[in-house]
Order: sequence, then C-alpha cells, then structure tokens
Amino acid sequence: MTDLSRATAALQGKQRMLAFTGAGISTESGIPDFRGPDGVWTKVDPSEFTYDKFVNQASTRIKSWERAREHRRLDAKPNPGHHALVKLWKAGHLIGCVTQNVDGLHQKAGLPDEAVIELHGNAHSTTCLNCRRSWPTPDVIARVEAGEADPGCTECGGILKIDVISFGQMMPEPEVEKAYQLARECDVVLAIGSTLSVFPAAFVPLAALENGALFVIINEGETDQDHLAHIKLEGKAGQLLPQLVESHLG
Ligand code: NAD
Repeated sequence: MTDLSRATAALQGKQRMLAFTGAGISTESGIPDFRGPDGVWTKVDPSEFTYDKFVNQASTRIKSWERAREHRRLDAKPNPGHHALVKLWKAGHLIGCVTQNVDGLHQKAGLPDEAVIELHGNAHSTTCLNCRRSWPTPDVIARVEAGEADPGCTECGGILKIDVISFGQMMPEPEVEKAYQLARECDVVLAIGSTLSVFPAAFVPLAALENGALFVIINEGETDQDHLAHIKLEGKAGQLLPQLVESHLG
C-alpha cells in the first residue's frame, strides 16, 4: 500500500478537515520558503529583523523596505496545492485553513476570507504604527522606488510597517482564538509545507492531535513533528495535495 492510498483510506468519511499551511505550499508559486535549501534564512540573518529593531532603528527599516522591494512577490499566483484546498472547501470537507503564510494565495485561489486564518499577517497591506491608517503595500513600495528609503505615514509621520508579524511581535489574538477553536472542531489536521518548528503557530496541529484528530503531514523534507503524525506524505504539495483531494472526493 502506498502512503497516498493509506492516507486516502484514513480520510474516508472525514468531513471536518483543517489545513495548517506553511511557506512550502507557496514555493511552487515562486515564493521562497524560510528554512528549505533555498530558503530566505540561508541568505538573511533573522535576528536582524526583529520588531524591536524595526521600531527603534531607521537602518533596519531601510533594509526591510529594500528587501520588500526586491523580494515581495505580491503578484504571485496560486498553484495546484492552493486550488486543491478550495476544492475540498467547496465540497464541504474543509472547516478552515490556518496559515503561517503572508502571501494571500489561499484567498487568491478562491477560499473566502472567513475560511483563512492568517496567524502571521498579510503582506499586501501596510499600516502606520501610530495612527493605524492603512495602504496597499505596492503603493508604499512605489514610494521606496521613488527614493524614500524609510517612508513615513503621510498623515501623522508615524512609522509604516507591512502587516506581517515580525520576530518578537505577538500573533493577533482573534486569529489565534479562531485557530484553536478550529483545532478543537476538526477530525483531521493536514499540515502542509511547514517545518512545524515556528512556535506558537506550530502548537495548532498539536492541539488538533490532542483533541483526537487524525494528523497528516504533507511536506518535502523532515518536519519537527514527523514522529507525531499518523501519516506523512513526503513530496511536493502541488502534486500530492491534488492527488489526495481527488482520491478523497472520488
Ligand atoms: P519553513 O521554511 O520553515 O518550512 C517550509 C517547509 O516546506 C520546508 O520543510 C520545505 O522543505 C518544505 N517545502 C518547500 N517546498 C515545498 C513543496 N513544494 N511542497 C511541500 N513542501 C515544501 O516555513 P514555515 O514552516 O511556514 O515557517 C514559518 C514561517 O515562514 C512563518 O513565519 C511564515 O510567516 C514564513 N514565511 C511565509 C512565506 C509566504 O507567505 N509564502 C514565505 C516565507 C516564509
């Protein structure tokens, strides 16, 4: 029996699946992950980009905007992995998608906003840390490209920050609550494209497991929770997820 047929058999009759996604579901859309072989952390030191440094050092903000200008792939398109989850949702077998991703590709693929719980924010918008006015990120990046290395709020002069959670910054409480609620309600948790090593986010699949859910991991490479999974599918999410959804829905 292949791992895929074992997974299909285990999913039979399950209709309350929760997806927990990480950067690996978006690499096939051209967005690099963090810890994979070509990941961002092989090129950048994460301790340079903490929330404290962003708020207190103009030099960190300048570097962050430069990185955003060069690397934010805001025009990326969803891939078959994202589309497979939409198919599961439309069939009524997915209760939600908790994501660590900030790329908005689940929504672009067609999951409604209320189905996507973004634990680490969304890179498509930027907010003033002082007056909370918000702009589309491309508008702010256009200002950087026009020569403003550290663009400030045009209303109050406050610091502008892309709406993603930095190291040292709390995850948004309503999203965390919703994620744990879904973890309690699901009968399967599908962890997709994540090393499951960034906490507290990676507690979500563990909460589902503790609550009795079947734990399935789809990932290329090892994760920190492989030893806890009932089934591990090793390989590309963009191939395995459509196959799994196809064989589950029949
Ligand atoms: P991670 O980099 O730690 O792990 C990604 C995992 O996915 C790795 O094991 C990698 O080998 C695997 N992988 C890569 N391509 C894959 C594919 N096509 N199919 C299956 N698996 C694949 O990422 P993580 O666990 O999500 O780490 C969390 C942090 O990364 C979060 O803070 C998140 O905000 C951030 N992040 C998000 C994006 C994005 O929005 N797309 C991109 C980079 C980082």
